[in-house]
Amino acid sequence: LNAEDENLNPEEKDIERALRPLSFEDFTGQHKIVENLKIFVLAAKGRSEPLDHVLLHGPPGLGKTTLSHIIANELKSDLKITSGPVLDKPGDLAGLLTNLEHGDVLFIDEIHRLNPIVEEYLYSAMEDYRIDIMLDSGPNARSVQISLEPFTLIGATTRSGLLTSPLRARFGINARLEYYDAKLLTTIVQRSAEILNTPIDDDAAYEIARRSRGTPRIANNLLRRTRDFAQIKGTGTITKAISEMALNALDVDSHGLDEMDNRILLTIIEKFKGGPVGLSTIATAVGEEAETIEEVYEPFLIQEGYLKRTSRGREATELAYKHLSIKPPGGQTG
Ligand code: ADP
Repeated sequence: LNAEDENLNPEEKDIERALRPLSFEDFTGQHKIVENLKIFVLAAKGRSEPLDHVLLHGPPGLGKTTLSHIIANELKSDLKITSGPVLDKPGDLAGLLTNLEHGDVLFIDEIHRLNPIVEEYLYSAMEDYRIDIMLDSGPNARSVQISLEPFTLIGATTRSGLLTSPLRARFGINARLEYYDAKLLTTIVQRSAEILNTPIDDDAAYEIARRSRGTPRIANNLLRRTRDFAQIKGTGTITKAISEMALNALDVDSHGLDEMDNRILLTIIEKFKGGPVGLSTIATAVGEEAETIEEVYEPFLIQEGYLKRTSRGREATELAYKHLSIKPPGGQTG
């Protein structure tokens, strides 16, 4: 589903699945969203109606797919999973929709990347549970109306700004997932370590947590790699020393910025005098897709105060200079 997940080998995919929370109770953080969803799910169930359509947005790895599984579980419904780029033709969407049973949940990842023609079919499907399919073209063209079982669409996107307003308007429930703080991520790391049968010291769990860019997926990945270090270089228990060794070996710095985060900041400072500089220029200079920088790296760097977005481009902040131990132009030594 996600680029990161596709890179996992089958064994790691099994681990991913084992670590995925299955109920609202198991899901840590995003408190307000979860509390609201619980009510909406119970209310829909009480009325034997499908849950209203849900839009989940936020950076990758924060739990959008996980929440969709949980919503379907709690509704006792089936979950069908697809993604925007996969639904290439209206026929693909029609096939999926006509196979849905009453109350099923359809999850569309990367919904901002839907083909506009497919998107238009989705409007009537969401609103009136029907689709109008065009048969033939030219003088023989006619449309047939197919009615669908009432269903729930869950759309996930890293870029809600790219959603068209007619699509956005058709979601009755709209939730923005936030980065997790270190305390919540510590709980997630401890839960995952328990599932993996790996003993971990509290300060080690915290160390992994605070260096995971506020992201459960990264915390779980770092935990798995740290577990390898504990097994080979230690006694099997993840201690603080082992976690520090592993995180340094993985180029995760003491503030949790990874190699690409640092490369982006260093490039803006060294090659572009600290900015402002345009996104695509940065992308070329660091050898990464502009879209990935905008969706994955930039939101965290901005939230943590290393980067500023101005109308003329991206600018490194004083904190970025300090972090990289570079003297800001005209400023004091950092
Ligand atoms: P997204 O769909 O937003 O990219 P996922 O739902 O795939 O993110 O989450 C990535 C991984 O992080 C999941 O495999 C899951 O194990 C873990 N995860 C996400 N959110 C939580 C959470 N709140 N509590 C525990 N684990 C979580």
